[in-house]
Amino acid sequence: MTSHARTVAFQPGERNIFFHILTACNLSCRHCYINSEQHGTTTLSDETMLTWLELFADPGKKTNVIFLGGEPTMHPGLVRGIARAKELGMAVTVDSNGYLFHDILEKSSPDQLDYLSFSLDGPDAAVNDPIRGEGVFEVCSTNMRRAVAKGYNVSVIYTVSSLNIEHLHRMLPLLKEIGVKRFFIQVIGLRGKPAQESAGDQGWQVSPEQWLATVPGVAAEAAKEGIHVTFPKVFLERQETFECAGLVTENFFIFPNGRVYRCPLCEDYPVHALEIRNNTLHKNSGLTEDSFFQLNIAEGCVMNKLLQPDTIEYDANAVPKHRISCCLLKQEILP
Ligand code: SF4
Ligand code: SF4
Repeated sequence: MTSHARTVAFQPGERNIFFHILTACNLSCRHCYINSEQHGTTTLSDETMLTWLELFADPGKKTNVIFLGGEPTMHPGLVRGIARAKELGMAVTVDSNGYLFHDILEKSSPDQLDYLSFSLDGPDAAVNDPIRGEGVFEVCSTNMRRAVAKGYNVSVIYTVSSLNIEHLHRMLPLLKEIGVKRFFIQVIGLRGKPAQESAGDQGWQVSPEQWLATVPGVAAEAAKEGIHVTFPKVFLERQETFECAGLVTENFFIFPNGRVYRCPLCEDYPVHALEIRNNTLHKNSGLTEDSFFQLNIAEGCVMNKLLQPDTIEYDANAVPKHRISCCLLKQEILP
């Protein structure tokens, strides 16, 4: 049977709360995106974490909350946060680097935590550890096994870069053997032709050709093995409609300094549309990210055009060869 990738269209009313409860981490991965200049170094107190969670509760809508860091299991109150989110009717995920501090497996339970997600960037220590740190593969894979044995739903996030794209297919036997249910393939960033030429062998990013030649095929193989795979859409086909998640869904990227973004591409800039001050959510005025969401351009995502223009290729008539989709648009293949 052939498995086909399906674009997961944005659902009206869909709500995702990406909740960074601290920025501290025990690791220092080479591609870490935490930016303490923009997001601070605060660890939220338990009380603040619970209060902020309530700001985003909406019992009438299906809401997913993803606890993030830094490393969220370093937060001693994470278990309280998970339990409160569940009481508020949210589906709960924790994205961990695999170290699982504060006995999270023992103190929480599969009833409370819908998914425990582990970040792993290689099928063995030789590929993973140069990216994520010495000894990380061993700790992470051991804890994945412990989590599966305790009945948790385990997923894996693999960030594709030029350092590990050729090893992506080797993840499948490992995921199957451990009992991983979902596999999220992410991209560190695609590079266009000019960057590709200048990046040389040391470049981190993968070319659109490498991405297309590798990722959809591995995803289809994973689905055949019974694993639910999700990966970014990136390029829109001519007949496909462009939609900006900032306009059609409710995504909130909350940072411990109170900034709340609607678009993940904006996170490194002080253009957040919302902010939590004195435990109240405020809408910012002036030029904020939501001013950009309205712009309708031939290249697709306007923030991609502003921040990563070399990902766009043009034909002889200066028409973009592909439109770039919203970075939140996913494709999935079900087992
Ligand atoms: S585990 Fe995550 S937060 Fe920690 S250093 Fe790695 S990428 Fe950064
Ligand atoms: S990535 Fe682009 S399309 Fe998606 S929310 Fe941001 S600006 Fe909109």
